[in-house]
Amino acid sequence: MHCPQCPGYTLEPRLLEENLLAASCPKCEGALLPLLNYRHWVQQQNEPVEKVEVEVLPEDSDHAKVCPKCSRLMTKFRIDLSTQNKLDLCTHCDEAWLDKGEWKLLKQLELAGQLPKIFTEEWQRELRRQQQINRVNQRYQESIGEEDFEKVREFKSWMLQHEKQVEIRQYLLLNS
Ligand SMILES: [Zn+2]
Ligand SMILES: [Zn+2]
Repeated sequence: MHCPQCPGYTLEPRLLEENLLAASCPKCEGALLPLLNYRHWVQQQNEPVEKVEVEVLPEDSDHAKVCPKCSRLMTKFRIDLSTQNKLDLCTHCDEAWLDKGEWKLLKQLELAGQLPKIFTEEWQRELRRQQQINRVNQRYQESIGEEDFEKVREFKSWMLQHEKQVEIRQYLLLNS
């Protein structure tokens, strides 16, 4: 199998973790991970996968990739909103391509134990929904101004913890 990114380089067996075998490129250090291996590995874990800190976010190769196994185009999946990184999945072979550092990134985000979740429509839909909310909030922030927006946010979190939050909301609505 050849690396989907580095012409002329062949993937070699490499352990991402103990008992978690992937096929990795010696040049770019990306890895093709069979989800079958992954599911087996996850089942063996008695404790949640240890969280790690990543100093430098891994580079994400944004161009479309071709599956090293079957040559079909792989599908990109956003990991979460805190990173631009996307994982590539061949839905035919059920194998995922992780760029260098992305396994560590998954561990940092505490997603390494729930990889297949990222490849679901629910997860992707929720990310798009959150992103939409963030965009709207950003517009409010720009319109209200950063400093005052901060006050509004503080007020909001104060209100949400208040035992009389229903009354406070009603008061504000009645008096606006
Ligand atoms: Zn490579
Ligand atoms: Zn494939």
